[in-house]
Amino acid sequence: MIKRTYAEIAKMAGSVGSFTQFADVQINGVTIDSRKIEAGQLFIPFKGERTDGHQYVADAIEQGAAAAFWQKDVPNPPENLPLIFVDDSLTAIQALAKSYLQQLSVKVVGITGSNGKTSTKDMTTSLLSLKYKVQKTEGNYNNHLGLPLTVLGLEEDTDIAVLEMGMSGRGEIDFLSRLAEPDITVITNIGESHMQDLGSREGIAEAKLEILNGLKDNGRFIYFGDEPLLSSRMKSSTIDKKTFGMNPSNDLYPLHIQAQDNGSAFHINKITDQFELPVLGDHNILNALAAMLVAEYFNIPFEEMNKGLQSLKLTNMRMELVEGQSGVKIINDAYNASPTSMLAAIDVLKKLPGYKQKIAVLGDMLELGDKEEAFHYEMGENLEGIDYVLTYGKLGSFIARGAKTVLPEDRVFTFQEKEPLIETLTNYINKETVVLVKASRGMKLEDIVKAIQ
Ligand code: ATP
Ligand code: MG
Repeated sequence: MIKRTYAEIAKMAGSVGSFTQFADVQINGVTIDSRKIEAGQLFIPFKGERTDGHQYVADAIEQGAAAAFWQKDVPNPPENLPLIFVDDSLTAIQALAKSYLQQLSVKVVGITGSNGKTSTKDMTTSLLSLKYKVQKTEGNYNNHLGLPLTVLGLEEDTDIAVLEMGMSGRGEIDFLSRLAEPDITVITNIGESHMQDLGSREGIAEAKLEILNGLKDNGRFIYFGDEPLLSSRMKSSTIDKKTFGMNPSNDLYPLHIQAQDNGSAFHINKITDQFELPVLGDHNILNALAAMLVAEYFNIPFEEMNKGLQSLKLTNMRMELVEGQSGVKIINDAYNASPTSMLAAIDVLKKLPGYKQKIAVLGDMLELGDKEEAFHYEMGENLEGIDYVLTYGKLGSFIARGAKTVLPEDRVFTFQEKEPLIETLTNYINKETVVLVKASRGMKLEDIVKAIQ
């Protein structure tokens, strides 16, 4: 974590008019949560909609904080405390993070894409940890505040930082990329999330490509080569680039994919060894390929990478295979959903070996804009071969309509409440059944997982 004096931090954060009597006070780390202050930290208050963090500043210092930011527009700063006056807490923490990163000798990996950022980040970290001291974005701290907080948590002796960069509109990835100035950047894929704000898949691709804006000179760009929106854009570019994908035209692609109980085995076009990935889904093979290209950039031989993949631990609720009542297996993918990721999850369900019965519990995918109903209907048309389909929510019922074009009507159920859905589901589960549970975050389908667990 950042360890600097009050004076150094004030300067890095762009503060003017801070006190001199506190200049040498040592600060170790930052926090934005006054309830979790650890001794020596810098407390950063924000003016929220309901509460203003500034009212906790004196308390935080009482609790052991070494200093705190204070936004100049907030009246009556407490006297004789080690405050660092800033115009805006957010801008100041971003400036502090940028300056800190420039002082470190850490290499930076920046990862964006519509789906698979967190999974790719976790896989990249597993691989790079074979040889380096690596720190990564915790959980999903991937935005204009989360990314600076991750940066400020970096240790001086960390070799590589793996940073997830998320967005909901234009300009956001541009900002994060320029802040972090990555040595290597990854775009996992282009999906349909945020269609509402960006208008089209082209618009989404443009927004993701902003990750190149902060890429260091001579930095490398790794991207999903099967996506025409990326490959056509990059064709004539002179950037140092490598692609991954299913298609043999990519620099790295998989061969002989075998779905296993709780993951996949595959080969790659580079060496003859077999790789074993302990997470489900062909889409996770793609994420692993992206991570392998990052590891290659840092001189880890492909021969060693299988060991790194084996030690992988993904962040929660992403394709987790858990056991439930009557021995049923549940693919808990309730973390979030978009058409690309739901299709990937359905593919996993279809390919999973060793089950007599397969059930899909699918809910609304949110924020898809004008074409949301069509997206859901088309998703339903992909459910051929699934034994039972249970949908939840208003848009979910369009999945059911689509599903009825490929499945007998009495195998497709629609629900607007979770209780009756759970009741119906309970009637069908047994130890030879696997259930996929997936919808957007807002639908909270983990309630269903919990109920049958
Ligand atoms: P967020 O935008 O919420 O941070 P993310 O991009 O970090 O999401 P993950 O958390 O890694 O993505 O995965 C979210 C879901 O997307 C997973 O549960 C999985 O179903 C799906 N997914 C992951 N990787 C891919 C991929 N490469 N292609 C399609 N779907 C994917
Ligand atoms: Mg994420």
